[in-house]
Amino acid sequence: MTQAPRADTPTTDTAPPSCPRCRKPAALCVCADLAAAGKPIKNRIALLFLQHPQEQDVDLGTAHLTALHFEDATIRVGLSWPSLGKALGRTADPKRWAVLYLGSVKAKELAPGREIVALTRKGTAVADQAAALADIEGVIVLDGTWSQAKALWWRNAWMLKAQRVALNPRWPSRYGKLRREPRRDGLSTLEATALLLSRLENKPEIETRLIAGFDKLLARARALGKAAKGIGVQEAS
Ligand SMILES: [Zn+2]
Repeated sequence: MTQAPRADTPTTDTAPPSCPRCRKPAALCVCADLAAAGKPIKNRIALLFLQHPQEQDVDLGTAHLTALHFEDATIRVGLSWPSLGKALGRTADPKRWAVLYLGSVKAKELAPGREIVALTRKGTAVADQAAALADIEGVIVLDGTWSQAKALWWRNAWMLKAQRVALNPRWPSRYGKLRREPRRDGLSTLEATALLLSRLENKPEIETRLIAGFDKLLARARALGKAAKGIGVQEAS
């Protein structure tokens, strides 16, 4: 049983310990679920999550949870890196990477029926979508709120060389009312990654597994209910 903090208990310095692996408070730790789901996914397309230092990936943030699902996933916290290779820790050509673009594009209108849209620098749909996405070696995902992701975008000029992609998700985010500030495409980092990688690698099971992991986290958060407010889970009004 989780008890709600008493009204006279100060809550500022009493944050519960976080799990060092998934970075969730103990009550939201998803590591047992992850272990039960099996070995990490062998992803052909690498993942790089760049996380703004002010993104609070403690309660319902999903970058660490997403990365833990994959063999080849890197999380870097910071504002700028001199090159993709420096951010990644190994040699990489940004022209062979995609970046999940968060600018104001209406993916639905640009390419009706497509869940992933490759964009030109002018923000229009690339004519040959299949060719633009065929040789992608990795995907960069900016983790944080819209304004944090925008700051990361502008401070890392090498990202301009990457293939921009936008998402046109068929379903709304599973966050529902739990998320305080959604990304532009309305998805969590986990959902966006699940959509991207399952389609680019043509493996629907990637999406199934990630969403199952996310559902467990959300179920825990919802079960905690009011008590969760004491550990930073905020219900949007
Ligand atoms: Zn954990």
